[in-house]
Amino acid sequence: MARVYNFSAGPAVLPESVLQSAAAEMMDYNGSGMSVMEMSHRSKTYQKIIDTAEADLRELMGIPDNYKVLFLQGGASTQFAMIPMNLMKNRVADYIITGQWAKKAWQEGNIYGQANAVASSADKTFSYIPDCSDLPISENADYVYICENNTIYGTKFHQLPDTKGKPLVADVSSCFLSEPVDVSKYGMIYGGAQKNIGPAGVVIAIIREDLITEDTLPGTPTMLKYHIHRDNGSMYNTPPAYGIYICGKVFQWLKEQGGLEAMQAYNKKKAAILYDFLDASEMFRGTVVKKDRSLMNVPFVTDSEELNAAFIAQATQAGFVNLKGHRTVGGMRASIYNAMPTEGVEKLVSFMEAFEKNNR
Ligand SMILES: *Cc1c(COP(=O)(O)O)cnc(C)c1O
Repeated sequence: MARVYNFSAGPAVLPESVLQSAAAEMMDYNGSGMSVMEMSHRSKTYQKIIDTAEADLRELMGIPDNYKVLFLQGGASTQFAMIPMNLMKNRVADYIITGQWAKKAWQEGNIYGQANAVASSADKTFSYIPDCSDLPISENADYVYICENNTIYGTKFHQLPDTKGKPLVADVSSCFLSEPVDVSKYGMIYGGAQKNIGPAGVVIAIIREDLITEDTLPGTPTMLKYHIHRDNGSMYNTPPAYGIYICGKVFQWLKEQGGLEAMQAYNKKKAAILYDFLDASEMFRGTVVKKDRSLMNVPFVTDSEELNAAFIAQATQAGFVNLKGHRTVGGMRASIYNAMPTEGVEKLVSFMEAFEKNNR
């Protein structure tokens, strides 16, 4: 078995014990004589899988009772439309533009109403989080939208914006379950699973129950109404059943690791190994304002395109894969999600040290 150190931004590395457990259960899940992939979602066995997944997620995040947990599909990008269709009662919402994913959500919001960009860090290639302590929040905004961890640019809101009482909607795709979270500060938290939780396609949405109503925008398809999924326990139609099962295994793994406080401590230590090296290096440097650095996605560059390309090629050869930065930023990006072992980051840093020496 030749596993690599996979620094992909997503789909991304998953815990090996989860993959092994899924492999062991592939032909016969728990005496059912079939794979979860082959199983009716209306079966008792599957109901237990999805119920346990939800209960474990609620426990991990401390989700209050007045929040619903929905397992949806269509990726995070489908939420860019679903959110305004369901939440834009006044057809006004405020968006904070901290990168491509926030921008895409904002553009989609504008299809359905007036989506205002109330802050942006586009002026410096999204390398920082704008001051959100006193934003011009619209009087009748239905929500304020953020992308909490910016996967492409490597920034993170370490302090939530002051929404002046409006519900905060956060895309947490790339920081889901990486640290403790006070769910009560949000109207809605959602994310695609493929960054930190499970297979692509699955989306987990945690929504304050009063925000889920039957009053959706005219023309909203049935499948895109939150209340339909709420009323049917995320099984109005066939859910992404196998994906949810893997998410459930990751939740169990996270509980075994000691929960989100333990993950945060682990992630901080792990990220510091790379950031400390970047701060000391004369060849490599991080691209993000220090106080806004993400613990999950770490973009970095050298001053030369040739060196960047040589580094990526040699790293790939050495088993450190998917380090190429997003096409809009260039350079490199190491995504070091929950499941990336500390050893992977330590070895990457040793490799970078050697590369720097050899190419001085
Ligand atoms: C990857 C990503 C998305 C897009 O997810 P899809 O599942 O491909 O739609 C949206 N937001 C963030 C923050 C992401 O990292």
